Order: sequence, then C-alpha cells, then structure tokens
Amino acid sequence: MEKPTINILMVDDRPENLQALEAVLESSDYELIKAHSGEEALKWVLIREFAVILMDVQMPGIDGFETAKLIRARKKSQQIPIIFITALTQTQDYALSGYSAGAIDFLFKPFNPFILKSKVEGFVKIYISQWELQKKNELLLRRSAELDRANSQLKKSESIARAISETSLDTICTVDKSGNILSVNQAATTMFGYKEDEFDHLSKMIPLFQTQSLQASSLKLMFETTANRKNGTSFPVEIQLNQIIEADQDLYVCSIRDITERKNQLVQLEKLVEKRTEELRVINTHLQREIQEKLEMVKFAQISEEKYRKLVDHSPLAIVVLELGNNKWSFINETGIKMLGGTTSNDILSKDLLHFVHPDDHGLVKDRLMKISKGERVGTVEEKFVRLDGEVIDVEVSLIPFDYFDNPAVHIVIRDITEIKRTQEYISQSEKLSVVGELAAGIAHEIRNPLTSLRGFTQLLVHKDETTSNPYVPIMLSEIDRINTIVGELLLLAKPNQEDFRTVEITDLLHTVIILMNTQANLHNIEIKFACEKHSKSMIHGLENKLKQVFINLIKNAIEAMPSGGEIVIQLTQFHDHISIEIKDEGCGIPMDILSKVGQPFFTTKEKGTGLGLMVCKSIIESHQGTMRIKSYKNNGTTVILDFPILTQATNSDELIHT
Ligand code: ADP
Ligand code: MG
Repeated sequence: MEKPTINILMVDDRPENLQALEAVLESSDYELIKAHSGEEALKWVLIREFAVILMDVQMPGIDGFETAKLIRARKKSQQIPIIFITALTQTQDYALSGYSAGAIDFLFKPFNPFILKSKVEGFVKIYISQWELQKKNELLLRRSAELDRANSQLKKSESIARAISETSLDTICTVDKSGNILSVNQAATTMFGYKEDEFDHLSKMIPLFQTQSLQASSLKLMFETTANRKNGTSFPVEIQLNQIIEADQDLYVCSIRDITERKNQLVQLEKLVEKRTEELRVINTHLQREIQEKLEMVKFAQISEEKYRKLVDHSPLAIVVLELGNNKWSFINETGIKMLGGTTSNDILSKDLLHFVHPDDHGLVKDRLMKISKGERVGTVEEKFVRLDGEVIDVEVSLIPFDYFDNPAVHIVIRDITEIKRTQEYISQSEKLSVVGELAAGIAHEIRNPLTSLRGFTQLLVHKDETTSNPYVPIMLSEIDRINTIVGELLLLAKPNQEDFRTVEITDLLHTVIILMNTQANLHNIEIKFACEKHSKSMIHGLENKLKQVFINLIKNAIEAMPSGGEIVIQLTQFHDHISIEIKDEGCGIPMDILSKVGQPFFTTKEKGTGLGLMVCKSIIESHQGTMRIKSYKNNGTTVILDFPILTQATNSDELIHT
C-alpha cells in the first residue's frame, strides 16, 4: 500500500537546539524541517502537511503557545499534534495553558532523547493510520459514486427494456430450459388470445417445442415455424432465441414474431412473379417465332439473291444498269464483261458507254436514251459495238426503264448476234451457192453438148480446106475453148459424190499440175518452183480431178497477179496429222477491203474474170475436210495456205495414182 511522507516540523529560535533535535530524530523515514521562529513555522504549515510539530515555548516574537494557537485556528492544520519543548520548570500553569492551546504533550529540557523519539514515533503512527483511513474513505466514496452511476444506468436500461417489451408487437417471453414460461409481455396476450396467467409452457403456442428441446433450437438463433392461438387457429412465426445465464441457471429470452403479413406478401409477390414470368414466356415464344421467321426470310432472300445473282451473271445476255441522271454504268454482269472484252467489271465501268458503241451508231444510241429518259418506249434494235480489243461485234439491244435506288435508270439487255449474223450470211451464201451450183451444173451440161458439135465442125472446117486459111477459125476455136472452160468450172460446182473418193498422193499430183501450168507461166515470164521433201509421199483421201482443179485455179490466180513476171513457190509440208500446201506469189496482192469479199460467187477484179475460181476451191476443199486461208498485202504478194487431214494408211480398195 502507498505510504505517506512523514514531515516533522521542528521550531526553535536557537539553532543548536534544532541541531540537537535533528540528531535525535534522524531517520530515513522522516523529513525534518527546521523553523527558527513562530512566523517561519506558520509559513511551513501553510505549504506542507506535517505528521507532528516539535515546538520551543520561549521564542522572541510569537512564542510557542501563540504559534500553536494560530496553527490550530486553521482548519486544515487543526489536527496536527504539537509537542512543546520548554526549559522552564514544570508548573501547572504552563501545562494548562499548553493544553488549552491544544497541545498534546510537553517535554522538559533537558529531555530524554529516547522518550522524545518514542513520543514522536507514537504520533507518527497515529498520523499514518489516520492517513490510511482517510485514503480508504476516499476510495469508498469513489466506489459508492461509481455504484450510484451504474445503478442509475441499470435503472435506465431496465426501463427502456421494459418499454420495448411492453410496446413491442412481438411476443417476448422468458423461459427456463424446460420451456416453462417465466414472464410474457403485453403483446403475447393479443397474439395468442391467452390471459397473462394462462401462459405456462412454450409448446402450447409453439408445437415445435413438444418434440424439440430449447437447447437444440437455440443453436439456431432465428427460424420460422408455425404457432397456435388459443382458438385453435395457426399462423406462421419467426422465433428468435437468446440464451442468458443468470445465477447458474439457463434462461432464454424468446421473441415470437407474427409473419403472416410478410408471408402473404411473399405469396402475393411469388404469384406476381409467376404471372409476369408466364407473360414474359408467352412474349418470348412470340419473339422467338418472329426471329425464326425473319431468319428464314433472310435466308430465303439470301438464297434467292444468290440464285438471282448467278442467274444474272451467267445469263447468255449482257445485262447493264445505266443511271440516267449521270449516264454512269452502275452494274455489268459477267457475260457483259466478256462480251466487251474486259476481265473485271472495272475495265468496262471505268469507261463511258459511248466508248463501246460503234461511231456509226452514236446518234442512234443517244436518241434512244433521250427517248427513254422522257418516258417513251423504245424497241429492240441492232447496233454495232466495239470491244476493248477493237473488234466490232453485232448486238441486239433492249432498253427497259426502272428505278435504281430511287434514281431513274435503264436496264440494258445486250445480245451478241455476231455469230448469228455470220451464220445467216453463210447460210444465204450457201443457199446462193447451191442454187447457183444446181443451175450452173444443169446449164453447163446443156451447153457442153452443142459446144462439142460446134468445136467439131469448126475443126472440120480447118481440115477440109487447109489452103484457105480462114483467120476467124482460130479465134472461133479459142472462144469455144473459153466457153468450155467456164462451163467446166460451173460443172465443178455440183456437189462431189463421196463414193468417188480415193487415196490421192499429193506430191505427184502437184508435179502434174505444175507441168500443166508451166507453159502458161513461161508465157508470162514466171517460174514455178516446187519445194518438198524428196521421195516423200503425202496421202490424202480425196477426188483427184477436183484437187487438180483447186491447184490449177490457185496457180492461175497467182500467174494473173504477176503481169510482169516473177516467181511462184509451192511448198508442201507434212505434219503428223495434216499436210499443208502453200502457194506463194509476188503479185499485186489483195487490199484489206477486198480480202473479205474474195471467194464470193462472181466477185472478180479482173476484166475477163468469172469470180468463180476461189469459190469453187473453197467448196472442193471443204468437201475434203480441209481449210483455206489467204494472207495478202497490197503490192506485196499473196500466199494461199491449204490444210488437209492426212491419210495414214491406204485402204485395200484404194488404188494409188501415179502420173
Ligand atoms: P477470177 O480469177 O475469175 O477473178 P477468182 O475467184 O479466182 O476469180 O478470184 C477472185 C478475185 O480474187 C480476183 O479477181 C482477184 O482480185 C483476187 N485474187 C485471187 N487470187 C489472187 C492472187 N494470187 N493475187 C491477187 N489477187 C488475187
Ligand atoms: Mg481466178
């Protein structure tokens, strides 16, 4: 325990006396304070607490008794014991006045140091026990104040708890661990319909507790169950259990909340959710069906678009979309790109429409576009287009007005009729040819007979009178021969009969023809050269006389093209599947514009020409499955190239012809 400081005040006007006192009381337990006068002693008392005061009686100024009186007058220092020390004789008066001043003891000089020491010790003990008492008292006071505070706090929370319990809508009850109800609040009576004294066991209201103990339930602090009212009806409740241990006894505070409303709301909410879910489900099904339908539509549209695009792209007709406002091509299909000689649509679309129209038809095209933009109808017409490579093609063009992304546009359908036209021309020419052929063959036959007699009689005239040399006779004979030549050529137009075809050796055949033609060539200062591989035999399947006619006609043309002489080179080359014969002259050549016309019946540039030679050649060559090409440049000679399929093996029935 804490110890007080023991202050001892020694008062004497003589320092040697103070020293003597000090020597007697010297101790580590004490704090010795010296005062040399009554005044000094009073000052010390004001600032310190003393266990005991040793006071000299006789002092100058305020003496010992006076000083003691003043010390006692002050309440705080009233209780300090004072031991008077005097050198005077022991008289009653002194003692009395000393006691009346409140002194507790006297010591006479010369004093016994042991008595002084023990007296002081006695007072110090009293001082210490007083001090301790005082401390205890203070502690007690503090404790009691704390208790007071706690008590009032308790009272406050108790009243709050009671208020809560009494005003609560929930039932609040205290129960022991067996479930016996110790107290219930007001709300319980309303909730269950029992009077306050009718609440005995918790299981009466909460059937769950008939089978389940409180301890087990209290593990779960809050749970829902069913409660019964006095009238037998039941309702849902939420139970909350709190275990409290009081005086070593298990007690529980049980709060019971009626959750009918909450449950109803929940049921209501669930119903609402269910209803809403059902609605959403229906909507969802609808949506899903709609999405499915739309998807199918899109898919169908895609398929038909794809189909349509393919249809358009691979249509045999070129299809073009032209915007009328700016005369811009917006679209061209694959066929169109190919028809106009492009590889990508940009090749075509980057150029103006008129770029592809033949200059002869510019006016026509502009006129038609003008009409259609005015809403007039225009029919299908034939036009000439120019491809990117410069080739001119014949086309048939239809214009159909329509709206292209809300802009007036024309849907142009172009049909390439070049081939058709060519075929048509060919057909008409063939028709001409066959008609001419039939007629010519018939006429030729009829003419040949009288011609034979005419020539015979004319010759007879020469024989009869050899002396009279009639100058007209040779002329007549040559003119008759000329008629015969023409008639002979006409006869060749008649279709050759396939059955007369034989194996023909072409090298020998050419030799024969060259020998035949040499006389005429020499007359015109022309040399015919034949170039072929020595001892080579080139067989073809054909008609000997007809083939001879072909070469005669071609060599004749070559001779006629070189009025001032020159060279004709005939070259035969054998390939693995065909033989090629070139007849090359150094003549006048054939101008470009005439080249396409040669070979047409009766087309001739010669004064005495028949215009049948090349036509006859063509027809014979075709009947031999051969081809004829003419390469010619004006004033630079002409080369005619003939190709015939080769005959690799001669059949037995065929007979080789050698001339
Ligand atoms: P013709 O010889 O009776 O005129 P052809 O049918 O044999 O009839 O020839 C037709 C035309 O073809 C000739 O008039 C001539 O203009 C041209 N021709 C044919 N061959 C040659 C050639 N080798 N050189 C120049 N022109 C030719
Ligand atoms: Mg001719």
